[in-house]
Amino acid sequence: MDSPLLADARALRPDLVAWRRHLHMHPELSYQEQATAAFVRERLAALGLEASPPMAGGTGLTCTIHGVEDGPTVALRADMDALPIQEDSSAPYVSKAPGVAHLCGHDAHTTMLIGAGALLARQRPARGHVRLLFQPAEEAGAGAARMIEDGALDAVAAIYALHVDPRTPVGHTGTTVGPANAAADEIAIEVTGAGGHAAYPHLSVDAVAVAAQVVTAIQHVVSRHSDPLEPLVVTIGTIQGGFASNVIAPSVRMTGTVRTFGPELRKAMPARLERVIHAVAAAHGATATLDVRFGYPATVNDGSLLPDFEASVAAVMGEGRNAQMAPTMGAEDFAYYAQRVPGMIARLGVRNEALGFSHPLHHPRFDLDEDALPLGAALLADVARRWLAGARR
Ligand SMILES: [Zn+2]
Ligand SMILES: [Zn+2]
Repeated sequence: MDSPLLADARALRPDLVAWRRHLHMHPELSYQEQATAAFVRERLAALGLEASPPMAGGTGLTCTIHGVEDGPTVALRADMDALPIQEDSSAPYVSKAPGVAHLCGHDAHTTMLIGAGALLARQRPARGHVRLLFQPAEEAGAGAARMIEDGALDAVAAIYALHVDPRTPVGHTGTTVGPANAAADEIAIEVTGAGGHAAYPHLSVDAVAVAAQVVTAIQHVVSRHSDPLEPLVVTIGTIQGGFASNVIAPSVRMTGTVRTFGPELRKAMPARLERVIHAVAAAHGATATLDVRFGYPATVNDGSLLPDFEASVAAVMGEGRNAQMAPTMGAEDFAYYAQRVPGMIARLGVRNEALGFSHPLHHPRFDLDEDALPLGAALLADVARRWLAGARR
């Protein structure tokens, strides 16, 4: 039999589905979530909940639900932004915005957090406070860092979040204790040679030929210069240069990403890459520069938050529904919260192969089983309540 909380969440299902489909049809990119934030404010107001003034550039907001007695504050986080990808779907709720779509499930995250607010408003915690964080710009722009700058974590003692996971069947969850998501840093490499006629290579310095060697040589930094037991990915994602098939390109620009877990390795990577890039360029009479833009740090989940989460999964979904999962090299800006206070981001199963919900995140055909919405809302509300009840802090 359902717990009262899950029964409440199931009763909320039609609302949750309607909210998620509305958000899915009206996706907004990072830091452009005006309509999304307005929608969240309206829903919270309808529940009798008061939202904060706009924060994090104008589209972020928080909402604190006060328990009967004073006590510590636990936070729950949702991200609200969509991706610059054209959705490929025949669903009636397909994105109405050309080239923009919720293909990372942030529409579901936003929906489930409003749902958790509804459940908590109906039955307030006995003691302490729950702060709902609706943040902009997870995909690009580190919205979490700006939420923190604007005080979203003030007085917060712990934070939980869910991310939908198309690898995990609906009705199940996954957790990773310790390092869970990699740090992601952007690199830009500029190779400069000397242009000329394609038929007289000896009179120029071919930046395309040099760039090709740079691309292969930096993979040696991964396979030969770095400890094989430490995760490391270097990917060159773009390469641009040249004007015509019969002209030697004077310069080539490449951009890419470096993914790491260890802070020491992360710090060492710019110098390791630079050494190889400079030497390869010099060997062929070219020059090269490397720019590194440090992005999201690694997300490290705090093991002390696992028992409450596991207990919530057992209460909402049943025993044996949470699996330990391996870390991934994908990045997540929840990392910023987890640097400040004990944090845990868990994976919520949304896979249902029979219904065709099995495409990976960021895929043009990604979609999710909406049965996950009431489960996620109940899970968030339950873990907040459970954490507060257990808090002798
Ligand atoms: Zn994403
Ligand atoms: Zn995401």
